Amino acid sequence: MFYDYNIDSTLVALAQQAEQDALPHFQHIDDVCLYASAKVLKAFQNNNLATTDFFEESGYGYSDAGREKLEKIYAEIFDAEDALVRAQIMSGAHALSLTFFGLLKHGDTLLSISGEPYDSLKSIIGITGNSRNSLIANGINYQQIELIDDDFDTTAIQAALQKQYIKVLTIQRSRGYSHRKSLCIDKIEKICKLIKQLSPKTIIVVDNCYGEFVETREPTHVGADLVVGSLMKNLGGGVAKTGGYIVGKAEFINDVAERFSAPGIGKDIGANLNQLFSFFKGLYSAPSVVASSLKTMIFASRLLELLGYNVAPKYNEKRTDIIQTIQLGTREKLIAFCQGIQKGAPIESFAVPEAGFTPGYPHEEIMASGSFISGSTIELSCDGPIIPPYTAFLQGGITYEYGKLGILIALNQIIKSNN
Ligand SMILES: *Cc1c(COP(=O)(O)O)cnc(C)c1O
Repeated sequence: MFYDYNIDSTLVALAQQAEQDALPHFQHIDDVCLYASAKVLKAFQNNNLATTDFFEESGYGYSDAGREKLEKIYAEIFDAEDALVRAQIMSGAHALSLTFFGLLKHGDTLLSISGEPYDSLKSIIGITGNSRNSLIANGINYQQIELIDDDFDTTAIQAALQKQYIKVLTIQRSRGYSHRKSLCIDKIEKICKLIKQLSPKTIIVVDNCYGEFVETREPTHVGADLVVGSLMKNLGGGVAKTGGYIVGKAEFINDVAERFSAPGIGKDIGANLNQLFSFFKGLYSAPSVVASSLKTMIFASRLLELLGYNVAPKYNEKRTDIIQTIQLGTREKLIAFCQGIQKGAPIESFAVPEAGFTPGYPHEEIMASGSFISGSTIELSCDGPIIPPYTAFLQGGITYEYGKLGILIALNQIIKSNN
């Protein structure tokens, strides 16, 4: 059944059951995918996209019609005023760094209301490391309010906003590498309403990494002023070779753009380096690629649950991002699973990932990513810190079929390594 892959026969039987159980939950994913596709298509048409918009601009990149249309299309999809979508934005962390440095000045306060931020943001803020260029080193105050039972601590947020003026408030939609649940759009909507009531001038920034096109609404639809993400994730559709985006209120996009290039220059500069074609095509593919990733995760969630592992979210739970966690329980199993994911990849399937230390990370880590775009996590990939409960963070899958094969090859590896 699985061609040449010698998948263990009990695993094949369980996979069939997992898929049976998963199938009813695919309908909702297909519905959201169709909705997002219609939105993307309409934005392409409303902006009269033409093949001439794919041309390379070198040098300064003044008045690049294609680049301007790309940013208008992003803004339209997010129902926002403006957007900055550039090849010169190198990652999600870079996009977030530009955003915070663009908005915050010496003496201003940044408040995170979703607890500890994503690992690479800690050094940008200055809560880890000793960079003399962090936000804190630049005289910006940082405060953090923990989540309670995976939801916002309304009382503490209310108190913080009443006590002092918070210039920027940030929310991380996805769980990142934490064990909390991701924050769905309904929850973000409720808290944005409260924030705007108490402190209308506070700028709400949402780290939208891994969340795009998972629900019909994005944070900009429910009160966020700026929304930030990486093109190596959902909106790159596995096609964009680099890049990041920021969408939202024009005034704040200008602040970020002036940090991105230079004051007074803002969005007007920046050669497209021939990346526009891949940005457009990636965005066009993104709804379907996100849907495939979600189906892969639901299948993996159910199959690993049937195999006795603790998984989050469960196959029948509501999702707001493409991350799946699996508690593998032992160091050996986590390593074997990641090695298996690598074995099932189209690129560098011959490589054997090993546990090791990465700069900026407190624990040994293992990462499997045999992707077309280096480090891309909209392609099937898996990583995890080598600490109890040995949790794998799994995400991506350009097509459901490759995703499913990748999961089965990975699990086969665990079964084989046990023998
Ligand atoms: C991936 C991610 C980032 C950082 O993006 P990079 O492209 O890896 O720099 C930030 N926040 C969250 C929640 C993420 O998942």
